[in-house]
Amino acid sequence: MMDFPLTLRTLFERAEKLFPKKEIVSRTLSGLFRYTYADYTRRTRRLSSALETLGIERGDRVATFAWNDHRHLEAYFGIPCMGAVLHTVNIRLSPEHIAYIVNHAQDRVMLVDETLIPVLEKVADQLTTVEAYIIMTDKPELPPTTLSPAYSYEKLLQDADETYAYPQDLDENAVAGMCYTSATTGNPKGVTYSHRGIFLHSMNLGLADTTAISESDSLLPVVPMFHVNAWGMPFAGVWFGSKQVLPGPAPTPHILLELMEGEKVTLAAGVPTVWLGVLKALEEKSYDLSSLRATLCGGSAAPRGLIAAYESKGIPFLHAYGMTETAPIALVSRLKSYQQDLPEEERLDIRAKQGMLVPGLEMRIVGQNGDVPWDGQEMGEILLRGPWIASEYFEDDRTADSFRDGWLHTGDVAVIDEEGVVKLVDRTKDLVKSGGEWISSVDLENALMAHPAVFEACVTGIPHAKWDERPLAFVVLKQKDSVAKQDLLDHLRGQFAKWWIPDDVVLLDEIPKTSVGKFLKRALREQYRDFYL
Ligand code: ADP
Repeated sequence: MMDFPLTLRTLFERAEKLFPKKEIVSRTLSGLFRYTYADYTRRTRRLSSALETLGIERGDRVATFAWNDHRHLEAYFGIPCMGAVLHTVNIRLSPEHIAYIVNHAQDRVMLVDETLIPVLEKVADQLTTVEAYIIMTDKPELPPTTLSPAYSYEKLLQDADETYAYPQDLDENAVAGMCYTSATTGNPKGVTYSHRGIFLHSMNLGLADTTAISESDSLLPVVPMFHVNAWGMPFAGVWFGSKQVLPGPAPTPHILLELMEGEKVTLAAGVPTVWLGVLKALEEKSYDLSSLRATLCGGSAAPRGLIAAYESKGIPFLHAYGMTETAPIALVSRLKSYQQDLPEEERLDIRAKQGMLVPGLEMRIVGQNGDVPWDGQEMGEILLRGPWIASEYFEDDRTADSFRDGWLHTGDVAVIDEEGVVKLVDRTKDLVKSGGEWISSVDLENALMAHPAVFEACVTGIPHAKWDERPLAFVVLKQKDSVAKQDLLDHLRGQFAKWWIPDDVVLLDEIPKTSVGKFLKRALREQYRDFYL
């Protein structure tokens, strides 16, 4: 058969030819902006032409510093289809980390959302490789900024060539994109994505047994386009000609719900804290969400109670697992056909696990004595390999820690049952080690969040004089003082061994979150370091 290069040009040109009438909706500062794929593809070619005029060549890194909107989607194809590298910078990182990753990636040009100019201005004097800033704004003139030299995105596009031809000879193994993990310790680590990897990952998102993205979908990526490429949805969405709904700057739960109702969203994707917030908003006001075929949830464990709450409202929930290093889709939690008629509680138990390996990847779960048996009991670390799994960190000597013997060592501890369904026990660094025994913080969090009075719960190990570490629970209640700490601990007592029960509960107004909305356990561990001592 032909040795045909798997590049993003193929995805883009299919949308251009087949779906010119399909719609892209983008929430901007001026309100909802709509255009067609015909407009989108013309503007994307113009963007590539403008970047070429600015001197961008194959292999050069071009950064985006942007929310989820139509211009960001133009960059998603306009940069890699010309052979350059799309580097999506996480806008919520600390100034030090932003400067680190832009310099480390050696970004030559940065595309910057108007609303994010002040954030970037704070670090601009530390950026050593950026030669030009392109400001993405709806207004005809450039907003005042100290970023220099600054160009207007719209003006550059106006003067550019909409027939710009994409190269036919790009190597499928050339780098198309890159993304840095949000560092919990040390500097962020860079991961590069090849054209081939994104091509195969996008195809995987279209499989019925994974996320089944298709032309008939209306997609709402709440997960940021700077976080693992919004889990690959924009790439697959363009390829398959799906309607895309991009929620713009800082969407609140009510804004998301209005978009879901108004744009008849069929598949929305976000981390659990997003879905917890949306659930709370649904209690304040009702929306017609009958078009939704699934809410896709990953990035941290989806609490069983959250899945049950959505399904009781008739909204199907799809739990998936992945990481920056895996592009990200690796596991999806779906029932096998012969499990569909199991009692509801059993079905929920399976759905709350992280799921089965998606087609195309290979996995091992390795414990102290080698590969763990499929008994749902013995714990081991998840190892992955496959065509959309990173093979190294970009120019980083930490590569050797995670990539060994041809496998990505994920740092996630899991068990696998006789059906091949994986249940994540914890990240290695979050496991609580009490008196030499492991306690899963994830299991305790899930159980706490199933309590009707609890909005969010986070459990972490805190140093303890006698037991090394003991679990401490942090809880945000839906209503202040609605339940006593003791009731929360009693709720756990029925479900876990005595030594698993946290020694105490701290009630908080808010749990600190990472730049991508996950519980920031490190901050709590530091703040409460002496709690048990
Ligand atoms: P970061 O490392 O910056 O948080 P990633 O998105 O790459 O960003 O995080 C990947 C990690 O998130 C995984 O290694 C795993 O620990 C966790 N994770 C992802 N999906 C799930 C899930 N469904 N359940 C539990 N943990 C998850």
